[in-house]
Amino acid sequence: MASVTQEAVLAVLKRIAAPDGRGNVVSAGLVSDIAIEGGTVMFALTASPQHMRAMEMLRGAVEKAVLGIPGVSKAVVALTAERAPAKSEGQPAAGQRGSGIPGIRHLVAVASGKGGVGKSTTAVNLALALHSLGLRVAVLDADVYGPSIPKLFGLNGKPEASSEPGKKMKPMSRHGVEVMSIGFLVPEDTPMIWRGPMVMSALTQLLRETAWSPADVMVIDMPPGTGDVQLTLAQQTPLSGAVIVSTPQDLALIDARKGINMFRKVNVPVIGILENMSYFVCSRCGERHEIFGHGGAREEAARIGVPCLGEVPLDKELRLRSDAGEPVVASQPESLHTAIYRDVARQVWAALDGGQLARPAPRIVMENH
Ligand code: ADP
Repeated sequence: MASVTQEAVLAVLKRIAAPDGRGNVVSAGLVSDIAIEGGTVMFALTASPQHMRAMEMLRGAVEKAVLGIPGVSKAVVALTAERAPAKSEGQPAAGQRGSGIPGIRHLVAVASGKGGVGKSTTAVNLALALHSLGLRVAVLDADVYGPSIPKLFGLNGKPEASSEPGKKMKPMSRHGVEVMSIGFLVPEDTPMIWRGPMVMSALTQLLRETAWSPADVMVIDMPPGTGDVQLTLAQQTPLSGAVIVSTPQDLALIDARKGINMFRKVNVPVIGILENMSYFVCSRCGERHEIFGHGGAREEAARIGVPCLGEVPLDKELRLRSDAGEPVVASQPESLHTAIYRDVARQVWAALDGGQLARPAPRIVMENH
């Protein structure tokens, strides 16, 4: 079957009128970058919040039109309240993207191919470790399905409206880091059922409608997995780079690879993999036990050409402190775990600020006459 091309998708979209009647959805600048993966076509449509209903209808029409293109088996069209970031070409370096959020230099996603691998624990400790390097840091909990950042920071209560014009929400603050989470706004025991476009608009609001202080880095705790919601989020959020968390089990590594591919697909540089629950040091005998078959992430990272940022051991104390809202980097600054997270933070910051992941220099081709 012929493969689906950007041109074919654009040609179809150009036949769909923009909601204000002026031109088509492409010429009106409503269509983001288009990602094509096999028979799946993904992109976002910019919608103004006042016209959400009309845009929902337009989304239906757009999906139907795209599904009519030969070779397309699935169309994922997200509505976003913001304009899509400018088109990018090739894989940019981590530091080459601005965040697009006033006052925030870099957005970094912490992601995992599946749940329960320690993604949120990593996001929190990485944020605190970046702060310990003297950087100004914020944390956005984008894990709308299970927002655990408030608990990990030991934060409860509701954010206040700020006195600024425009009435943004004030982020919460703990251990020198600003924090915002949907968990502050919705009671803990409320089941949250999110449809894709709702996730994006809720997160866009948390990101843009919060009165963040200026920050060097915002760490974003992504929803686990690599489904449509995660992909749209990766595509629509102006990320400078992503850190993938994985346990050493093979299965998790297969998932980690999916996570890496997801970011590559949308041109977000993968800063590296962090292997969590990597090994276990027995508190009695002091011996190192590699219960999951340690080292998988390092080998796998080398194979796929992504740096391994570090190996965080399995540790009861780390879990107890996390559950108590006293993350290890803040409460045990001299521990082995803190040293590892600080080392990871240094590498992340070097990638962001130093352009370590810069594109390869252009090849010089000598012509023989
Ligand atoms: P995810 O965000 O991937 O779902 P969490 O960060 O919530 O995962 O971690 C899942 C559970 O594992 C939590 O109870 C957490 O305290 C625990 N945990 C995470 N990393 C470690 C570790 N290195 N050692 C021991 N427990 C850990």
